[in-house]
Amino acid sequence: MTISEQWIAKEQQYYAQTVRRQPVVIVKGEGSRVWDADGKEYLDFVAGWAVDNLGHSHPAITQAIVEQAGTLIQTSNQFFTVPQLQLAELLVENSCLDRVFFGNSGAEANEGALKLAKKYGKQHRDGAYEVITAFNSFHGRTATTVAATGQPHYQEAFLPLQPGFVHVDFNDVEAIMNATTDRTAAVMLEPVQGEGGVNIPDEDYLVRVREWCDQNNLLLILDEVQTGMGRLGSLFGYEEYNVEPDVITLAKGLGYGVPIGAFMSKESAMALVPGDHGSTFGGNALTTAAAYAGTKFLIDNNICSHVKQMETHLLDRLNGLKARFSFVTDVRGKGLLAALEFDSDVSGQVLTNANEAGILLNGVRPNAVRFMPPLTVTPEEIDEGIGRLEDALAKI
Ligand SMILES: *Cc1c(COP(=O)(O)O)cnc(C)c1O
Repeated sequence: MTISEQWIAKEQQYYAQTVRRQPVVIVKGEGSRVWDADGKEYLDFVAGWAVDNLGHSHPAITQAIVEQAGTLIQTSNQFFTVPQLQLAELLVENSCLDRVFFGNSGAEANEGALKLAKKYGKQHRDGAYEVITAFNSFHGRTATTVAATGQPHYQEAFLPLQPGFVHVDFNDVEAIMNATTDRTAAVMLEPVQGEGGVNIPDEDYLVRVREWCDQNNLLLILDEVQTGMGRLGSLFGYEEYNVEPDVITLAKGLGYGVPIGAFMSKESAMALVPGDHGSTFGGNALTTAAAYAGTKFLIDNNICSHVKQMETHLLDRLNGLKARFSFVTDVRGKGLLAALEFDSDVSGQVLTNANEAGILLNGVRPNAVRFMPPLTVTPEEIDEGIGRLEDALAKI
């Protein structure tokens, strides 16, 4: 047995079998690359599921974590801490939102935003509590967010679900209009659906949803857990679509690897008051110090403009694969979130071949793989990665 196989056997013996994993035991990462327990090197175009935005072991993040760990890690929110407030200021001053609350994950960020929406409906829409979300959305795995998620295969084992969610087709404004009733408090959407297959809406979709929400006094909540923090080529995905949401949620890329989530709200939408919400670990000094250092680096080094350049480069290369392989039927992407679609359910085989060739990808659909490399990925790394993928596809 290889060293990797020995660890995988332990996983099968000891770990809850709830996640389908690929047989790669990662022991070290640097920049856009990782190494497995047997010393094999890979280009990492999964990046912790669009989390490791500055790559692995970035000095700015490592230094912030080490320094903060030696100073103060956690205090509870019974007291004030400095890194939390530095991060809050940085996010508010660089967004259209006025206030932020920190939790520990994307699902938890959405839980907070959904509680806010319910309270807003109670106060401003005569007790309305329903939230309209989209089919193929992904909002998390907790009991409430799995009900918000518009994908039955995540829900079937856990019926009955928490009530209060209505699902409509994505990229269809009329469907939202038709689903709106006196019970509707909010509309919650991803600017680009990530986990649902990298589904990119029409340019005017969010603008028109915004108009409808304004006319009906509904909150527009954007789940930016995946699209936020530079992933689409702007600090926040809403900037790409020229709208100002009332509420956004963040997580994945916000922590540069450490677990953190957040919801942000306009002052006019902030229905929550002292006692309504809280968190033991949320916004602790360690995670907010890392998130602050990473976000400051992202902004100061204009990583978003690099993302826009790399978007063109990556999509060019992916279109090259589409031209070469007839079973590649679609290329889509925005910023550094992209997908390659096949004419049949071969993504499992593609991932196996890709691992062998030394590039890590995500199987976002049975017939599609997703690319979400670190935002700092270089053109040379993209070329090398796509070269490896080309070898993998040639064996299909
Ligand atoms: C990943 C994701 C979530 C859930 O985040 P967790 O940190 O896994 O709870 C929610 N919404 C979107 C859009 C996501 O991509």
